[in-house]
Amino acid sequence: MNATPSRRALLRGKIHEIPRQRPLGAADEMAFHDDCTQCGECARACPEGIILRDKEGYPVVSFSQSACTFCAACTDACDSGALAPDRAWPWRAKAASTCLSMNGVQCRACQDHCDLQAIRFRLQPGGNAMPLFDKDTCTGCGGCAAPCPVDAIDFFQIQSETEARPC
Ligand code: SF4
Ligand code: SF4
Ligand code: SF4
Repeated sequence: MNATPSRRALLRGKIHEIPRQRPLGAADEMAFHDDCTQCGECARACPEGIILRDKEGYPVVSFSQSACTFCAACTDACDSGALAPDRAWPWRAKAASTCLSMNGVQCRACQDHCDLQAIRFRLQPGGNAMPLFDKDTCTGCGGCAAPCPVDAIDFFQIQSETEARPC
């Protein structure tokens, strides 16, 4: 993903970067920057070790090694208000165009690692198979990301609060 927008850029309304995946319960990006003190308590509390720091020192979730269990230890550890229990996780998974299966190479690694069976494949002419992610079943846990051999799992934010279910 692109660099985190600085607060100055946010205030100027010059946000073109893709939002970062902040820990569970994060406020919107501007409020998160206001409230987060970069204390690191959320990262220390995460039993999966998936909370890293971005270039500015703010916590960001990385699925490169493991998935989120939605245990809420990060939210509970945050005293600043930057993370709060009443905010749902808004992220869902999808495949990027670099997906092997979309390019004629046999792969089902993401499907094999999705405990919720949110991924199915639609065969295409020419032998390709398109991975389809059911956003109503996907929780955005990131369990499909680390097993993907070409780092082709992307995440997007669902639009409305009603779509963002509490985990
Ligand atoms: S909800 Fe639990 S597993 Fe997920 S980032 Fe927070 S502490 Fe880590
Ligand atoms: S694991 Fe990655 S490369 Fe394999 S099918 Fe899924 S998205 Fe495509
Ligand atoms: S993010 Fe989690 S629930 Fe969604 S497709 Fe990947 S493994 Fe399945």
